[in-house]
Amino acid sequence: MKRYYKLILIVHILVLMLIGCSKVDGTEITESSNFETTKILTEKEYTPEDTKSKTIQDSTSSTTADEIESEFFQTLEVHFFDVGQGDSILIKNGDYNMLIDGGSEAHGSYKYLQDYNITHLNYVIATHPHEDHIGGLVEIINNIKIDTIIMPNVTHTSVFFDKFLTSVAFSEAQVLQPYAGNSYDIGDAGFTIIAPVSDSYQNLNDYSIVIRLYHGENSFLFTGDIEAISESEIINSKQEISADVLKVAHHGSNTSTTEQFIKVVSPDYAVISCANNNSFGYPHFEVLQRLRANNIDIYRTDMQNSIVISSDGKRLSFNQDPDNMLTADTLYITENGTQTLVQPTNSLPTEPTTTPCEIAPYIGNSNTGKFHHYYCSSVDEMNPNNKVPIFNRNSAINQGYVPCKICNP
Ligand SMILES: [Zn+2]
Ligand SMILES: [Zn+2]
Repeated sequence: MKRYYKLILIVHILVLMLIGCSKVDGTEITESSNFETTKILTEKEYTPEDTKSKTIQDSTSSTTADEIESEFFQTLEVHFFDVGQGDSILIKNGDYNMLIDGGSEAHGSYKYLQDYNITHLNYVIATHPHEDHIGGLVEIINNIKIDTIIMPNVTHTSVFFDKFLTSVAFSEAQVLQPYAGNSYDIGDAGFTIIAPVSDSYQNLNDYSIVIRLYHGENSFLFTGDIEAISESEIINSKQEISADVLKVAHHGSNTSTTEQFIKVVSPDYAVISCANNNSFGYPHFEVLQRLRANNIDIYRTDMQNSIVISSDGKRLSFNQDPDNMLTADTLYITENGTQTLVQPTNSLPTEPTTTPCEIAPYIGNSNTGKFHHYYCSSVDEMNPNNKVPIFNRNSAINQGYVPCKICNP
């Protein structure tokens, strides 16, 4: 049976590749044609009820609170690898390993997995089809034994995604679709799928699989590249999302990590994965400011290389101290038509300051070399990968961008 579904997947990939060849721009988001495959395979999944009762049994098999207190947990390690501009996170718990994303093809995490002698991954989560998340997974899937790959029900027209699908099809792994509420064991830890909550989105980033990992009293929330839309859906879904550690969404972009989301997750620590001096200006200053204003310690792969957090089920320990300097590019904010220069600062506002603009006032297109007002209709149609937030007009001109003829920025 399994071979039959793999065959369907391979046929779908061939069809996808043919369709892909006829597209000029890699912007299209469509319902995945491998939907049938993944849907059927999901029947093997645990139901939330199964897992819940299992977890409850595990933790209440001892009779007294004292005994639960003294319950022994294996050391769980969460490695946020420095993969330049991208995400790749390894979760190691005894003999159990799982990986969330693999970085880009050029800066994938396979070399790190080799350093740690990882020859088997119980789970691989491919959060969403962008290259900085799935590009590096190809080498990993081709070389490491994987039991289960969880990936969202969406496809993307790009050479990298085609390569990724091909590696998935030829691997022995079973492929599952994410359903919010489903939980899985990983040694004495477990994780629950929190998002995607809906079936379809305009922005590929919102398809990102969000998971909450729990280990004894400790918890982590991994958010892929979700935008504010998925964040508010998650809040409205009333799922348990409180976490000690938040993997900040979308490399610290100001299009996510809203004040409301921070309040509900209520983390003590935040990890941002992005490249030093990346062209997007990640992490955005406002995000750093919001995190610090909520008294959250910040860890950054662009400033500190790989971040490793260990959990003994009760306490968390880190391989280094946080970097709470609000180091970001200078930023112009527009308020009542007046532009003000904001200097990054280490001092925290005692009161929340007037909200800076929610998004960059200009968006450059790295593909066409044009720049637009953020509200220009062409911005909506732009491939998210080509969008470059620009905070003032002069820097757009200095970077060689040409003003759009429609919106005249
Ligand atoms: Zn990304
Ligand atoms: Zn993305």
